[in-house]
Order: sequence, then C-alpha cells, then structure tokens
Amino acid sequence: MNPDPIQSEDPKPVVLVVDDSLDVQRLLRARLRSEDLDLICADNGADGVALARARLPAIILLDLDMPDVDGFEVLRALKDDQRTLEIPVIVLSGLQNAQDKVTAFDLGAVDYITKPFDLMELRCRVRAALRLHHLVQMLAQRAQIDGLTGLWNRAYFDSRWKEEFSRAVRYDRPVSLSLLDIDHFKSVNDTYGHPAGDAVLQAFCKVLLRESRHTDIACRYGGEEFALIMPDTAPADAAGVCDRIRAAVAALVWSRHPDRAVTVSAGVAGGVPVDGFTPVQWIEAADEQLYSAKHGGRNRVMVRDTGANPLTLARAG
Ligand code: GH3
Ligand code: MG
Ligand code: MG
Repeated sequence: MNPDPIQSEDPKPVVLVVDDSLDVQRLLRARLRSEDLDLICADNGADGVALARARLPAIILLDLDMPDVDGFEVLRALKDDQRTLEIPVIVLSGLQNAQDKVTAFDLGAVDYITKPFDLMELRCRVRAALRLHHLVQMLAQRAQIDGLTGLWNRAYFDSRWKEEFSRAVRYDRPVSLSLLDIDHFKSVNDTYGHPAGDAVLQAFCKVLLRESRHTDIACRYGGEEFALIMPDTAPADAAGVCDRIRAAVAALVWSRHPDRAVTVSAGVAGGVPVDGFTPVQWIEAADEQLYSAKHGGRNRVMVRDTGANPLTLARAG
C-alpha cells in the first residue's frame, strides 16, 4: 500500500486508565469527558497490561498503589514489550514519596500526577502526553517516507521487497518489480534549475500513484529512480501498468518548460519466483531491463519473465 492520505477526521485517541479504585475511574471519566478521548479502564495491573497490548492506547494513566501487580510492575511489563514500549505513561499516585517518583521515571514514566489531582493540571498533562505520542508516531512513520515525494523510501523498499518476494515464493504467486528512471534528468536540472527538477520528481510521483493500484507499493529508490512492487501481478500486466505510467508522463505539459517534455524508462522483472532465486537477483534483472530500455532509445518499457526461465536468469545474474 502507498502511504495513507492524511485523514480529515482522526479517530479519538484511546486513553487507558489502570486504577483499582472505581471512584478514581469515575472521577477521571467525569474530568476528561470534554477532551474527546476514548477512555477505557482496567481495575488491576494484570488487566491493565493485557488491555494495553490489545488496544495500544495513545497514553496510559497508571496508579502505583494496587494489590497483586502494582504500578511499577505494570510499567516494567509495558517497557519489556515492543508493542507497548513507546506508549507514554503518566503515573497517578497518592504516594508522596520522592523515591517513588524517581523509580517511576527511571522505569520510563513520562509524567507524574499526585492525587488528589487538580482538574486543569490533569487536562494539561494529558494533552501534553497525547502530543508526545502523536509526534513519536509521526517520526516513526516519516523515517520510512521520502521527504520530497511522500513515497516510501529506499529503506522501506528494501525490507518490503524481501517480504513480498518471500510471500510470492511461499504462496506460489507471481510478483513483479519495476524500476523506473527519468530520462536525461540531469539536463532538466542543468537547463531549468534544481527546483524545476524537484517539480518533475513530484509530478512523476503523482502519476506513479495514480496509474498504479492501491495494493502496489511505490517507492523512491534513489535520486530520479523509482521502484514499483506489484504483488500478485504477472510480468505482462506489470509491463502494461508501466507503459500507462510512461505514456502519462510523456503527455504532461510543464509550466516551467512547456517546450521540453519529460520521459521515463522502465525495466520490469516478474513471474512466480523459482526456488533458489534471491530478491536481489530480481532487482538486478529489473535493472538490466531498465538498462536495455535506456539503450534501446529511452521512453520505453522492457520486461522479462524472471519466473519462467531460471537458467537464463542464472546466467544473467
Ligand atoms: P538517463 O536518461 O541515462 O537516466 O540520464 P539522467 O540524466 O537521468 O541520469 P544521471 O544519473 O546522469 O543524472 C541523474 C540526476 O538526478 C543527477 C542528480 O543531480 C539528479 N538528482 C538526484 N536527486 C535529485 C533531487 O532530489 N532533485 C533534483 N532536482 N535532482 C536530483
Ligand atoms: Mg535518469
Ligand atoms: Mg539514474
């Protein structure tokens, strides 16, 4: 899938309260009613950890003093689990002891509110923790997204291609990989300037997303080179998709250089993977096709069925 478009209405953030006191739960519900949150509650530490794993809340409000599994143990369990590790935890406690605060922070709590809590202070701290959660999530996602085009970046491509390739091997399904490279792109930069080059890359990526399917994975492979992973797609169909992209790019009219068209060349390798072939060999096969598209005159798509004839592929690799 391509990166999700920004939603105009985000779902309400889930806030998990872990507190053995039903009075505190009721109070928090009342106090936070106006905050547009989805508040869920657990009455004990064990349920709290289970609910955190099941619902992955945006933040957790955690009581320290609970029978059986206390708040410190809940914090340890949350930090020990990859899924719940990043969830900000605000400790709620009647304990005034400075050592308890230090221990809670050492275990990874982001904040500490002493009971009985002040309404305004509670709201502000909850909002601050929600902002923190949002930022962490955004950064984690951005680390896989190319800043200029918004496509998946090379790091994401590397792991996702391996995954899609193994899936095709396991289920005996076709998969196609296309590498697309803008023709004579250096001369666009040299003639019209780097910003004009950037505009070409951004417009190209829009075409790429528009002409491919929602289940295809569009990535910026590097510079002016792009990769399109097409799961469950035979090489001839993949070549058809790439030719649509090629034709759409060639037909674009550019406001900065109306007399200069931009074209793209593509190489496709696809088919049902034959045992023993590696994802890297498939990238090399797609790259060879791209190379022959460039040498055949550019503005064209070359395709190879890499599943059908392993011997040819072995020689090529
Ligand atoms: P070919 O048809 O053989 O692909 O020729 P080409 O000029 O497209 O290929 P070449 O590899 O010689 O040049 C690629 C250029 O892409 C060089 C580099 O400066 C430019 N480039 C890479 N990343 C960016 C970018 O983010 N923005 C801009 N404007 N240019 C970039
Ligand atoms: Mg190029
Ligand atoms: Mg290139």
